[in-house]
Amino acid sequence: MSLHSYLQVVKRLGIRYVSLRPSQPVTLSASPVEEAASIEAVPAVEPTVLIQTQSGAPALAPLKWLTTSPDTVRAMELTAFYQDIHECQNCPLGATRKNFVFGSGNPEAKVMFIGEAPGADEDTQGLPFVGQAGQLLTKIIESTQTWKRSEVFICNVLKCRPPGNRTPQPEEVEQCRPYLEEQIRVIQPKLIMALGASAAQALLRTKDSVGKLRGGWHDFEGIPLKVTYHPAALLRFDGYKKDVWQDMKEFTAKYKELERLS
Ligand code: URA
Repeated sequence: MSLHSYLQVVKRLGIRYVSLRPSQPVTLSASPVEEAASIEAVPAVEPTVLIQTQSGAPALAPLKWLTTSPDTVRAMELTAFYQDIHECQNCPLGATRKNFVFGSGNPEAKVMFIGEAPGADEDTQGLPFVGQAGQLLTKIIESTQTWKRSEVFICNVLKCRPPGNRTPQPEEVEQCRPYLEEQIRVIQPKLIMALGASAAQALLRTKDSVGKLRGGWHDFEGIPLKVTYHPAALLRFDGYKKDVWQDMKEFTAKYKELERLS
């Protein structure tokens, strides 16, 4: 049976993801040291997903948003979800975007950082928080000395850039929120950080300001959620630095406490 026919059968059976990682030959090692050496010798495989090209032929496309192995159950589930939604045209932003910005990071992440919507850099690269505000977000996350950016999952309420970086409209948030909710359902983080008013208001279904929402803890479907200022606001007003630092300290402390209890 050709690969193409095989994949057609697999698809009809309802299987949405097939790992094409080359299988490793099973060999018996003389010692654990030798075994460890043989494992390290296996070349890293860039995460890819099987797609159908316009001609109908299967091809491998890189999954640049995935920072870890594509072979965990959550990675497979998230990849299948990405495949389902990345050509979305449910609202007018689909027609103006360059790229659908799904999010990026580790599908097994214990913490998620959620922003508003892709900006120009994110739209161009197809990845969230890669511009100036994104670089600051990376610094904020890594300054906790608890996570590297690649270990967490970062995404936005909207997956497509609003023209001119305007604030998302309520209808756009309504259209896109189920995507975010599904990402959270698959990843099941222990904690969520909402970055700025759009994320906080969408997740908590409130119109309250960040000033009012930050400081304590909220709940998103059983997951503790904290609100802080958006990194872009921090770039505009240095005075928020102290508050963001305090929020990150509380966020990290809660994470460590949950880890200790689990
Ligand atoms: N601002 C956001 O809210 N998200 C991004 O991805 C970039 C900037």
